[in-house]
Amino acid sequence: MLHQFETIIVGSGGSGLYAALEASQRSQTAVLSKLFPVRSHTGAAQGGISAALGNVEEDKPEWHAFDTVKGGDYLVDQQAAKILAEEAVQAVYDLENRGLPFNRTPEGRIDQRRFGGHTRNFGEAPVRRACYAADRTGHMILQTLYQQCIKNNVSFYDEFQVLDLIMAENRCKGVVAVELATGELHVFAAKAVLFATGGFGRIFKITSNAHANTGDGPAICARRGIPLEDMEFFQFHPTGIKGLGILISEAVRGEGGILRNRDGKRFMEHYSPTLLDLAPRDIVARSILTEIRAGQGIRGDRKIDDYVHLDATHLGKDILGAKLPDITSFCQTYLGLDPADSAIPVLPTAHYAMGGIPTDIDGRVIRDGKGTIVEGLYAAGECACVSVHGANRLGTNSLLDLVVFGRRAGRHIGEYVKEVEVPAVSEDVTDTAAGWIKQLTDGQSGPHGGHIMEEMQTTMMANVGIYRNEKDMQAAVGQIQNLLDRYQQVRVQDSGSAFNTDLLELIELRNLLDLSLLTAAAALNRQESRGAHSREDFPDRDDDNWLKHSLAYLNGDTVRIEYKKVDTSIWEPKPRTY
Ligand SMILES: Cc1cc2nc3c(=O)[nH]c(=O)nc-3n(C[C@H](O)[C@H](O)[C@H](O)COP(=O)(O)OP(=O)(O)OC[C@H]3O[C@@H](n4cnc5c(N)ncnc54)[C@H](O)[C@@H]3O)c2cc1C
Repeated sequence: MLHQFETIIVGSGGSGLYAALEASQRSQTAVLSKLFPVRSHTGAAQGGISAALGNVEEDKPEWHAFDTVKGGDYLVDQQAAKILAEEAVQAVYDLENRGLPFNRTPEGRIDQRRFGGHTRNFGEAPVRRACYAADRTGHMILQTLYQQCIKNNVSFYDEFQVLDLIMAENRCKGVVAVELATGELHVFAAKAVLFATGGFGRIFKITSNAHANTGDGPAICARRGIPLEDMEFFQFHPTGIKGLGILISEAVRGEGGILRNRDGKRFMEHYSPTLLDLAPRDIVARSILTEIRAGQGIRGDRKIDDYVHLDATHLGKDILGAKLPDITSFCQTYLGLDPADSAIPVLPTAHYAMGGIPTDIDGRVIRDGKGTIVEGLYAAGECACVSVHGANRLGTNSLLDLVVFGRRAGRHIGEYVKEVEVPAVSEDVTDTAAGWIKQLTDGQSGPHGGHIMEEMQTTMMANVGIYRNEKDMQAAVGQIQNLLDRYQQVRVQDSGSAFNTDLLELIELRNLLDLSLLTAAAALNRQESRGAHSREDFPDRDDDNWLKHSLAYLNGDTVRIEYKKVDTSIWEPKPRTY
């Protein structure tokens, strides 16, 4: 079936919905989402959204931009970070005006709390910059934006999974999607397409990410010749529930929670004397592993199960109930403990992709180190790389990124579509997607996709995790190539067409395998340690050789790397101390 729109937004998380809201005021807009919109992962975001409102203590966008650049270990494009911090203030007030129920100060202003790496006066001490709605900030953002989109008559195609981009030369002409309810392929021709498909934490075994976070957008782009930027930088959040990976928000430490080792000692005093438990996430995650490796972890059942404690008992039931109610109930549900009475057993969990589809500051996708624009194609949110997070994202800067750059992309699209016609698409545009489905459903028997998934996640966790070295990453690349080869034999067990989740998961598995390969190959290539990319064989940051973005091109089961300049036009890169 053929549909025609001016603008197609793929994804209905915070970035997709904000872009849709803006684009729909200027063009005929449809949102395609494989999930029902408010089930997007943005709804799971807990702790807050940053903006230098200065409501509870002095703060400035300039300090926010600097913290973002330093937190990203100077791989951040600095003009983009400046835009992020400056537009944050209006963005948060816009959300408030659209109905978002933020927590309030006694005077009725939006309340703010501390988060890792956000400081006053260029690093002096933690500052209260995160605006929040209890520990359900993302849920509130998603509900608010969805209501606004409905009010503005955005067309929604819920439970449509995009499989391919329609590209002609350097122009995007639309997308091909499968309708979950029927299995039918649909073609959406459009003047502009925006990918807002979210993250891909599912390449790792232990992750805070939802099952749907399979990186479909970046994988589709990569197979269509578009490079992915800075894929070696994947954030491990310091505090996932031990063994499960379910997130315990940094807001717990923002409210005063403390990490402790087996002796009950506050070990962050040693690693970050100024910011302590509120150092950036890469530093805290490494500190936890270093404690455990030194035998200072709390003993689990086997040595690999060692963990540390996140102690929030001193906050008391009232604060926990008012400001961290979901965290409290997660601890009760998954651990059978009350954080007011007992410390929470935690370990780092794969959390956030700093890398993704390269874009300029208006969300336009670029295809090389020179900044060549792909006509009609945009990306925003976690699937994109602007780059405002560099080598390590600060907490609460992602929700902000969605809103600021989702809005900018939506506005740019609104202007762009006035200049072009809805493109004609030929009948063969579904060939690639149809061929893929046919192969998976041709009735032959093959290996089970679940086993390949399991092996991929275990390999990535063990060999491309927090600490990395050449030997392990080389092994990971080989292993993923082997899994990609085995994938060719994988077949569905369910051959039906209605809601065939078996088929959809195999499609997602291919996306995850491609992204695992790109991540492992980019990590193997970067011979330095910076932000979340920490190499045992190259322990230092090396600005002379590596102060550059990587662009990884997928070519079957091999990866080619090129580079892009980092914008350091405001602050000169310095060593990081906290
Ligand atoms: C547990 C958790 C807590 C977090 N807490 C915070 C926080 O407090 N503050 C903060 O700043 N950040 C936080 N983050 C990070 C932040 O929430 C995410 O980076 C952000 O929400 C991603 O939003 P998005 O719009 O890019 O994508 P998502 O919200 O992930 O949405 C992706 C959308 O794409 C659609 N989609 C995907 N693939 C396809 C396809 N093939 N076809 C059609 N549709 C598709 C999905 O249906 C979905 O609608 C948290 C993340 C997690 C996992």
